[in-house]
Parts: sequence; C-alpha cells; structure tokens
Amino acid sequence: MENQQLTQLLLDWFAQNGRDLPWRYKGGAHPNPYIVFVSEMMLQQTTVKTVIPYFTRFIQRFPTVQDLASATDDEVAKYWQGLGYYSRARALLHTAQTICQIYDGHFPQIESEVAKLKGFGPYMTASFLALAFNQPQTVIDGNVMRIMCRMFGLTQPLDEIQPKIRQYAATLASKTHPADYASAIMDLGATVCTPKKPLCVLCPWQKYCASNGRADIEQIPARRSVSKKEYNGFVFIICNAKGQIYIRKRSEKGLLHGLYEFPWNTATPDWLSDVSASENYVTHVFTHIKMKLQIVYASAAKAPNDGFFVLPTQLTDYPMSTLMQKVCRYIKITKARSTE
Ligand code: SF4
Repeated sequence: MENQQLTQLLLDWFAQNGRDLPWRYKGGAHPNPYIVFVSEMMLQQTTVKTVIPYFTRFIQRFPTVQDLASATDDEVAKYWQGLGYYSRARALLHTAQTICQIYDGHFPQIESEVAKLKGFGPYMTASFLALAFNQPQTVIDGNVMRIMCRMFGLTQPLDEIQPKIRQYAATLASKTHPADYASAIMDLGATVCTPKKPLCVLCPWQKYCASNGRADIEQIPARRSVSKKEYNGFVFIICNAKGQIYIRKRSEKGLLHGLYEFPWNTATPDWLSDVSASENYVTHVFTHIKMKLQIVYASAAKAPNDGFFVLPTQLTDYPMSTLMQKVCRYIKITKARSTE
C-alpha cells in the first residue's frame, strides 16, 4: 500500500476516534498558538491524564501570553508544582516574555526562529509548527518511534536506528493535514499502539503492520537498559524557637533550580542541635537518579544566610519539587531552645 494511503487511513481513524482534549481544536476552529505552546510544553515527558488539571488551572490563571509574560518565576513554578522537570516552567516564562518583547505578542512561524525559543528542541519545534500553524513537519516522540518500529519491523536498539525511524516517519506524515496527522499519531500511540498490550485489532494499520501478531511485540522498540544511580542521604526538618521551619531556595542553575527545599545531605550540618533521626523516608526517581532521604528532625536558634524560617502554614506559598512536598507530610514542630 502507498504511504499516503496509510496516512489517509490514520486520518480517517482519527476523525472517528480522536481524543477530546481541552487544548484540541475541532470543527475547523483556528488554533491559538499560545494554547498549543503551553500544552505541548506540559506534555513533554508527562501523560495527558496528569496534564489536564494542570493545564486547566494554568490557562485560567494565565489565559494569554501577555498574562504569562508578566508573572513572576515563583508564581509560574507554583502553578507547575507537581508536574516535574521544572526547567520547562522556566522556559515557558522566558519564551512568553520573548514573544511579548520581541514579537509583539505573536508567535513566529518561521522554523529557524521558533527553534531559537527557549524550550523548543527539535520535537517541540516540529509539533508546535504542525499543531499551531498546520505546517508539514515530521514530529517524532516516543509514541511515533514505537509505532514506526512496530509498523516496519525495526527490532534493533532505538539509538542505532534513529535515521531509519525519521525516514519512515517522514514518508507517512501528512503534507495536506499536518496538524490532524500530528494529533492522530499521538492518539494512536496513546490509546492503541500502547507500550504494553497494544490493541492491534483496533488499529487502522493492522493489515500492513510488520509486528501484528508477534508474541514479543511489547519488546519493540528495543532499548538498552540504563541503570539509575542511587543517592541515600538525610533531609532535615529544622525548627526555631517560634515554631517556624527552615527552607532555602535552590540556586538558579542545575536540577530543580529556583525551587525551595529543606536542607538535605549525606551528613548533618554542624549548626543543628537536638538532632533526631526518624524511621521515615521519602523517595523519588529523577531521570538518572533514585533519591532516598531519611527524615531527620532538628532545631536551630539561628540559620545560615542561604535560607530563612517560615511558619508551617506558609510553606504552600513556596514552590517545591515533588520530593520536597513529600517531606512536608512529616512536619512536626519541636521548638528550638531560644538563645535570646
Ligand atoms: S498493528 Fe499493533 S503493533 Fe502495529 S501499529 Fe497497529 S497497534 Fe501498533
């Protein structure tokens, strides 16, 4: 079968089975590039189900690119809190400011200009131009890679066959309905050609797929296993004489930059007193590292200048990573002895 016939089969399937999502445009409505931008940034490495409530809240608070551009870092991080990969929140704000300051509030449509915006890697650039401006693009993410590998029987490890995947994806991408095709292939990957137990009987490409009926279908695409490093340490819940808790802001660079946190380390800082280790742990898996921190209670009359004390009720005003939000559950107040 010709590739463009396969493309049409998928578009027909999408017209009947496409998901109804809050950022989708149906019935010929003109896409709002800002809505596409926010949703695509949120959807990177995060599931649709997780994103929907965040997206809804975010757009209620920041309905236009101008509203977002005038927000503070902390406020955007607060609305992002729980989505992870916080560098995306920073990039979102930075790009909104660029759009307002340099492009007079209108997103550019030229690929080389879009690719320079913060947060726009090759995937984001292609998906944004396809969805927001209906430009023919080859959009490749994990869904597309999985579908191409299965459709064309590519069983080698993913990192060895990227050029082939791109070649196949390019031949199937629609030149006439790029936005619908980009949404369609995402929906096929999310609802039919899923990583586990793909529903091949519902697939518009079943008759033409090299992997249909294979017993090892869940092993396609093949991946090399990468072991995650482990980090074991302590996280300190530190009280002062007023029953306030010590927090600090992470530096503006590196993992989780700009978020607030309780001090954590593999050793106890020397400015603490009444140190008492609990039996509770918090854990979280980041991209390349498994963190496991034991909760330790302590007091301090004074604290270093890199942080400050706040009332427990004020903690929700400070954006924190998912790991640090888990620590909040273990807060109990043991007031430090006052030295005043
Ligand atoms: S037939 Fe099955 S494996 Fe092939 S593309 Fe469709 S859902 Fe995926």
